[in-house]
Amino acid sequence: MPHPELINHNKQFPKGVIDIGKGCWAAVGFAASNVHMIEGNASVTIIDTSESLSAAQNILAEFRKLTTKPIARIIYTHAHRDHISGAQVFHDGSQDIIASHKFTSDLVKSDKNSSTPLQALKKRAEAQFGMGLNSKERINLGCGPGDRPMEGLGQGFIKPTYLIEEDMDYDLDGVFARFIHAPGETEDHMVVWLPEKEILFSGDNWYHTFPNLYAIRGTTYRDFGKWADSLKLLADLNPEILVPGHTLPQFGKERIRELLETTREMIIFLMEKTAQGLNAGIPLDDIVAEIELPEHLAIKPWLKEHYGKLSWSARAYATGLLGWYDGNPTNLGTIRTAERARLMAELAGDLENLWNKAQSTENLQWKLELCDCLIALGEPAKKLKADTMRIFAEAEINATARNSYLWGANKLDPKD
Ligand SMILES: [Zn+2]
Repeated sequence: MPHPELINHNKQFPKGVIDIGKGCWAAVGFAASNVHMIEGNASVTIIDTSESLSAAQNILAEFRKLTTKPIARIIYTHAHRDHISGAQVFHDGSQDIIASHKFTSDLVKSDKNSSTPLQALKKRAEAQFGMGLNSKERINLGCGPGDRPMEGLGQGFIKPTYLIEEDMDYDLDGVFARFIHAPGETEDHMVVWLPEKEILFSGDNWYHTFPNLYAIRGTTYRDFGKWADSLKLLADLNPEILVPGHTLPQFGKERIRELLETTREMIIFLMEKTAQGLNAGIPLDDIVAEIELPEHLAIKPWLKEHYGKLSWSARAYATGLLGWYDGNPTNLGTIRTAERARLMAELAGDLENLWNKAQSTENLQWKLELCDCLIALGEPAKKLKADTMRIFAEAEINATARNSYLWGANKLDPKD
């Protein structure tokens, strides 16, 4: 049975176009990410374009029920694929596509001839997003709905035509806008602020779940300090309406200030706590295993770990700043996986004892690690590992962890 809190998180992406008011709309639940429309005098502006051609087509069809005004421009809040891959649907070949001059991301700069480990990234992204899992397995993505159309996934990107170097004011056909650089989930984040309407389109710098300070699909270090600074910058705008790139729009100045400030507080807490642990010489595994949010932050529904996770973030912060070496000279050396497994079997007594330990231990993390040893020794432990990962999956409130456990389990132990 999937964790009820993860099922409940589906309330953050009910499929529909939400009238934000003041001539703005948010298409939520059609894709992993949201698409927004701002109505001007004689035209509309589109912010972000979703992850696929099919989702973008569905969204455009809904927008067309609201207005037939032509699309004058498209704005990308950042370069992640789930925001830029429906552009061809909204674009007629002539409009400007506006983005930060830093527009680039670990995914977009993929070059088949480069040394980037693209296949690893692709496989891990498939696991994180539960590609190929059925709807009972994949409850959601943490940031968006699990079930959505996949035709044309990642296929409709068009390069930006107009890059913004400095924060600047811009006339969206009668709607006064300010483009503001706000590095956070990515370095190239640019938010759209409508000061007269007091509406902020925040991209992925805030959404209603624990931020993905580290994505298990594989990311380079996301600058936690800059992200925290950007959350202060956004809070200081004092928006009446906050429209994130994932999950539902938020309303009310006081509430929005609380959402942004507590998220910032959480990031600063995790940076400080991790740094304290490292300074005290505490092993990173112990820092990661023990870190917990203070009660007043832990109870905030928007900090529930459906997407990012505190423990993963602590590890990402430590390795992001100091790299892989933990200061313990033992770890300057390496033992190959198969050799470690052989030594583990020797320690257990023999292979049979290793099997017995793997089968009998009640520590499920340890069970997984022993299964890895058995598999490395060529033993038929894939089913035991898969069954254990399925138990972990059911206990998870984190969608990306759940998806990765189930995706991995289905690879090891296919269900026919
Ligand atoms: Zn996103």
